[in-house]
Amino acid sequence: QAKVAGKGCYRFYSKAMDQAVERRVQLEEELRGAWERGELSLHYQPIYRLADGRPMGAEALCRWEHPRLGVVPPSVFIEVAEQSGLIEALGRHVLVQACQDAATWKQPGMEPPFVSVNISPRQLRSGDLPDVVASALQATGVAPQQLHLELTETAVLGDEAQASALLSRLRATGVKVWLDDFGTGFSGLSHLRRVPVDGVKIDRSFVADVLRDPDDLALTSAIIAMAHSLGITVVAEGIEAEGQYAVLRERGCDQGQGFWLGRPMPANDMRRAFRDASGQ
Ligand code: C2E
Ligand code: MG
Ligand code: MG
Ligand code: MG
Repeated sequence: QAKVAGKGCYRFYSKAMDQAVERRVQLEEELRGAWERGELSLHYQPIYRLADGRPMGAEALCRWEHPRLGVVPPSVFIEVAEQSGLIEALGRHVLVQACQDAATWKQPGMEPPFVSVNISPRQLRSGDLPDVVASALQATGVAPQQLHLELTETAVLGDEAQASALLSRLRATGVKVWLDDFGTGFSGLSHLRRVPVDGVKIDRSFVADVLRDPDDLALTSAIIAMAHSLGITVVAEGIEAEGQYAVLRERGCDQGQGFWLGRPMPANDMRRAFRDASGQ
């Protein structure tokens, strides 16, 4: 009995896996040249200073408008791009486009809003990231201080010495480095002493439960205290309710983003929002 069921199970999974691989290969083919065909674009989600609610900058989030499938989420296609190596070209386009858009956000009498760009593990390891960043800044006239790079803990993990050297090189140019999805990796707080970063983004899984789960509130508060003692900025992601905003502000979290504050939006809307905030 069990053997038959087991065999059936095996066949079922094997077929599902075949389909997943096929779908992956097809997505990879379709992703090739998608930027040039204008199917990929950047949306921006505003990031606010919690103390006074002022918009400080925005995170660039990639969108793929697939001709047949509609909008494919980055959680699907970034992975495909990463594994196929397409991420290196895609990442270069994203950096230039993000800087180009950020160049239009400056308003008289206001600190220029920053743009925060996600960098994948493979981009970090490719070695030419400092050159790619430098040429994006040069081509667009954006000041290095206006550009933030978001790296995940897992990207930095493994070869810490090499990652640290690369991050130091990037930070020496004035670009800011943030650790994304902080708290979900294996390294935790001790990592912050060894890897030089300017900011950490507390993962939204902590923020989600900050009002309900005392452990998550304790952890979040500990991250904030530890980061501040090292001179590191703390940003909360995934703020979906006013209560979460209030408690994070009260705990001293510096900045935040989330659906309650503002959803990702097209570049034109983001530019208008910064203009409106500056009172021009
Ligand atoms: P991430 O960098 O952690 O970006 C934050 C994600 O959380 C975004 O999802 C954003 O839309 C979502 N989010 C923001 N506020 C809320 C909220 O209040 N509630 C909930 N439930 N979600 C919220 P998105 O745009 O689907 O991006 C997913 C991930 O894809 C990003 O996570 C990032 O790791 C990756 N990604 C996106 N664009 C790029 C890119 O240009 N390059 C690379 N390498 N990765 C990218
Ligand atoms: Mg991010
Ligand atoms: Mg994140
Ligand atoms: Mg929890």
